[in-house]
Amino acid sequence: MESLWMDFANSMWRDWKSGGPSVDRLEQPQWRQSFTTKLQYAVNEADQEELERARLLRDRLLRYAGNLAAGELLEGSDIEYLNKVMAGGPVVRRLMADGPALRRVLEPAGSGWGQVLADVAADFAGMLSEQDISRIRCCDNPDCRWVFYDDTRSRTKRYCDDKLCGNLMKVRRHRARRKAEAHKEKNS
Ligand SMILES: [Zn+2]
Repeated sequence: MESLWMDFANSMWRDWKSGGPSVDRLEQPQWRQSFTTKLQYAVNEADQEELERARLLRDRLLRYAGNLAAGELLEGSDIEYLNKVMAGGPVVRRLMADGPALRRVLEPAGSGWGQVLADVAADFAGMLSEQDISRIRCCDNPDCRWVFYDDTRSRTKRYCDDKLCGNLMKVRRHRARRKAEAHKEKNS
């Protein structure tokens, strides 16, 4: 299951194969542009101050996800922080004619990154209040730590992708076992 807040939290790309340097995709204008096309409104380019706030929210979401995956709950100050971010992007209620029908819509009050961050925080808040938070996971590959939602019936999904991180870790375990066995033989 993909969601806005998870895509945002996973903007820190890690070298899951070999643990090389990470790439902060929030720094990339093309990543920001493709991310904001998921929203239903036009967004201005972020300035330095907005980027700083975006990084802060991303790092907090990663930390919250790690805490939730470890069975810990959010603290009062975390809820306060999320409320502050959501207040930074108010919406306007509007009744619109859609042919003969009428639609009630929520329109963003602004077009800056405060609005984007408010939507991301609201998506996370929606997950906290409406979904099963015990299914939040961080990939068990220590070089990856990708955030995902475990929607398997058995609730035992450990890797963001079994074919990628899952196989890689299987190979690593196999190699470690072979090495340990070879070590034992040498010393016996
Ligand atoms: Zn992974």
